[in-house]
Amino acid sequence: MCLYRRSTKTVRVLWRKGNRVKFYSTSNREIRHTLDEAVMRGLAPGGGLYMPEHLHPLPAGWLDGLRGEPCWRIGEVLFRHLIGDDIPERDLHDILRDAVNFDAPLVGMGDNRYILELFHGPTLAFKDFGARTMARILARLNRGSDTPLTVLTATSGDTGAAVADGFYGVDGIRAVILYPTGRVSPLQERQFATLGGNIMAVEVDGSFDDCQRLVKQAFTDADLNRALRLTSANSINIARLLPQMIYYVRAWLQLPEESDPPVFVVPSGNFGNLTAGLIARELGLPVKRFIAATNRNRTVPEYLETGEYRARPSVQTISNAMDVGDPSNFSRMAELLPDAAAMRRIIFGADYTDEETRSAIKAVYRDKGYIMDPHTAVGWLALERYRSEEGGEEPGIVLSTAHPAKFIEVMEEILPGVVEIPENLKKALDRTKKTVIIPADYAAFREVLTGM
Ligand SMILES: *Cc1c(COP(=O)(O)O)cnc(C)c1O
Repeated sequence: MCLYRRSTKTVRVLWRKGNRVKFYSTSNREIRHTLDEAVMRGLAPGGGLYMPEHLHPLPAGWLDGLRGEPCWRIGEVLFRHLIGDDIPERDLHDILRDAVNFDAPLVGMGDNRYILELFHGPTLAFKDFGARTMARILARLNRGSDTPLTVLTATSGDTGAAVADGFYGVDGIRAVILYPTGRVSPLQERQFATLGGNIMAVEVDGSFDDCQRLVKQAFTDADLNRALRLTSANSINIARLLPQMIYYVRAWLQLPEESDPPVFVVPSGNFGNLTAGLIARELGLPVKRFIAATNRNRTVPEYLETGEYRARPSVQTISNAMDVGDPSNFSRMAELLPDAAAMRRIIFGADYTDEETRSAIKAVYRDKGYIMDPHTAVGWLALERYRSEEGGEEPGIVLSTAHPAKFIEVMEEILPGVVEIPENLKKALDRTKKTVIIPADYAAFREVLTGM
């Protein structure tokens, strides 16, 4: 079905023309859509999540040509393999080159433990990989149309920053970001509420749930959808998920040659990050095991323990980007690992309290001089538990999902005066807020949207 042409530095996969790859819905396998449809819709009709119909492994030796190559090159190989020529080669190159123009360095911590720093993108969190790529894929879909697409997103912090940066200045797209006024950290707010241009920040006098409700209501408003061409940048979008495979591969390529398949530790909330790792493994990335590391929102570790999935309201923690009680990507994980026994073989679960997280941040700083953000620290703890319970000589790689400066208020309490704020974040702090303030009321929100 596909041909591979290899030179010393590159692996190229050439699909036959017209080979359209389909994505099926996790709630109904009969629903099969092309990449374009899946990206535009976000959620499949009936509320399922899209999954690639085929996950064939890449040909043996695919990793050989990629050692030392940048992230966007790795992305080209993975996407080409998964989606064929649904995005023409030239376009795919431009999208990835522009979106993933930063690295994911692997930092050695001794004793065959590593930290994979995923915070070298513009908003200092791993969500940059997905949000920036998705924005450019959407823009390509809308090329040649007179009406811009309007992307709606509700955020409690991190997602807003990644989405705002991802879409900022992208032609043919407007992004509207809703957030609960006064409940987002000042630093996070500065990252998405100061840009202007094609990014509109809407402060809602209410809770995060109110913001989500307003977004949902807008999507069910048929007239508004027609007029504004609404779409979502939600983390369930397949175009945000797939680019996250890149850094798992990049991590492997930075390990010493002849390493054993590593254990990847993934600090998790909605489990999009971990799901991308599972897909990379299906495509042939060597992985010994994944570790699902959570804070007290332990729905998945509990499932691994008991075989029972109990969704519940989220509880607030200091690793707040992981405060999720009913992880949206669980249905995707269950497609690949259909029951608790299957999932247990591939995924080890561990969960931690804020107290344990704070102690870990202090201990790692004291012993190694390395500053971890609270999410990364949850991962670090989980690796220690895995090692003590399961042993293993293989490399352990903790995904560091954000730069500690993003959570400066929490970090200051744990390590006062230690965390330095990077230059680009400082610049954001100096910018003036540009927002619209509305009550938590659909009529008001609709008026803002139609008046844009
Ligand atoms: C979003 C986020 C997570 C959780 O990622 P999921 O893909 O939802 O599991 C973890 N850490 C940080 C810093 C995040 O922003």
